[in-house]
Amino acid sequence: MEIFHISAECYPMAKVGGLADVVGALPKYQKNAGNEVRVVVPAYDTKFRKENDFECVHWGTVKLGNFNFPFSVLKECTDKLGYELYLIEINELFNRPNIYGYEDDIERFLSFQIAALDWIIARNKVPDIINCHDHHTGLIPFLLKFAYKYENLKDVKTAITIHNGLYQGWFGFDKLYYLPEFDLKHVGFLEWNNSINSLAVGVKCANAVTTVSPSYLDEINYNANGLESLFNTVRNKSKGILNGIDIEIWNPLKDPMIAANYSIENFEIGKQKNKEKLCEQFDLDPAKPLFSFIGRLFEEKGGDLLPQASALALSEHFEDINILILGSGNSEIESHLIQLRNDYKGNYNVFIGYNEDLAHLIYAGSDYILMPSRVEPCGLNQMYAMRYGTIPIVRRTGGLRDTVIDFGDDGNGICHDQASVADICYSINRAVRLYEDKLNFNKVLKKGMSADHSWESVCQEYIEIYNLIIQQNEI
Ligand code: ADP
Repeated sequence: MEIFHISAECYPMAKVGGLADVVGALPKYQKNAGNEVRVVVPAYDTKFRKENDFECVHWGTVKLGNFNFPFSVLKECTDKLGYELYLIEINELFNRPNIYGYEDDIERFLSFQIAALDWIIARNKVPDIINCHDHHTGLIPFLLKFAYKYENLKDVKTAITIHNGLYQGWFGFDKLYYLPEFDLKHVGFLEWNNSINSLAVGVKCANAVTTVSPSYLDEINYNANGLESLFNTVRNKSKGILNGIDIEIWNPLKDPMIAANYSIENFEIGKQKNKEKLCEQFDLDPAKPLFSFIGRLFEEKGGDLLPQASALALSEHFEDINILILGSGNSEIESHLIQLRNDYKGNYNVFIGYNEDLAHLIYAGSDYILMPSRVEPCGLNQMYAMRYGTIPIVRRTGGLRDTVIDFGDDGNGICHDQASVADICYSINRAVRLYEDKLNFNKVLKKGMSADHSWESVCQEYIEIYNLIIQQNEI
């Protein structure tokens, strides 16, 4: 079948978080399974965009109310990603270094969705499936069903994958005129709490809804930033599918971004070399256990708990542990984390920013990865960490609940229930004791390393859903 993934992110073209990793990997495995798979993302001004060749396959003009934006569709020339990558180039809106965070994000992503559909309809070939991802592409299922100009695509089946239900892309009805003309009797599909809510629109209109883990599907019934009742209503067309990881990119045996390659056979030497490099770079002591955090520094990730939890754990175990943090986000959290450097020199460090290479080295060189998340729809860090022989310390929520089992229950990690400083420190205490018991420590570590989180089996679950909705005439 022919599958389109339309998304705001796709690794390696444009990445902020897990959305990019999923959209950069799932299509490859779907293609390997015999499908024609195309990925469409905006043409941001990123490193990948600058360093690779693209050919223009289509051009046109996006009409957004009274605005007209010329656009081109660029195809990545080499096909080296394992699927066809297409960029929607709208210079005025996307020729910028960041992916999100601009005042005109609504206009940017509406134009992106309309341009993508304008191109798809112009190809004169109707795809079988369009898989949308998060709110940035949530209007597509509505537009396909009801916009007059996409009449020829109205039978295309759509799925929307929820990577994070907290962000919903609201905008006022004063911008309704941005949308291509449609029969106004369907306007109710756009509305949620007196606004146009892009995520809600996608959830209402798509033929299938998927979340990135089974537990997250349960959670959004009672914690979805106002959309709980909607998620309840669409439960019969929803499925939670745990994300996989790209085991070709995330492979400690071949990873070019780490200091020494290793496998489960020789992890002790390999990890030690990576740890030494990391500790040298960040003025830490490789003889002590290294606890790391990688991620967006926001409350949803428990980022606000990190400064106090780090300070408390370091005071209690001043001689015993290292803590290293890589991330960016809330400026108050960032400055608290930076301040701690002065108090715990030699045991603590932080890198504020985004750095893909460093993230790989941290997964390889750390003993533990901290994930004190309040919300974690799937979480990829714990899966990458386990593959690199780093034990996850997680709060039981969403996908963390589905992938990490406490070592007390013969599992692969350390778990706690509350998003609190006390719970994090309690888990760190347990981790310090486990680290001293090398036999048990290695047993837990190996459990994680030998787990199979590859996309191969997971990818089939998506195909099953696509087949199911293709067979249905209407929802
Ligand atoms: P989310 O998508 O909610 O941010 P995930 O766990 O699903 O969280 O995915 C996070 C991805 O982003 C992982 O690949 C992680 O390594 C990466 N990442 C997050 N923050 C950084 C950072 N500051 N530098 C490098 N990689 C990062």
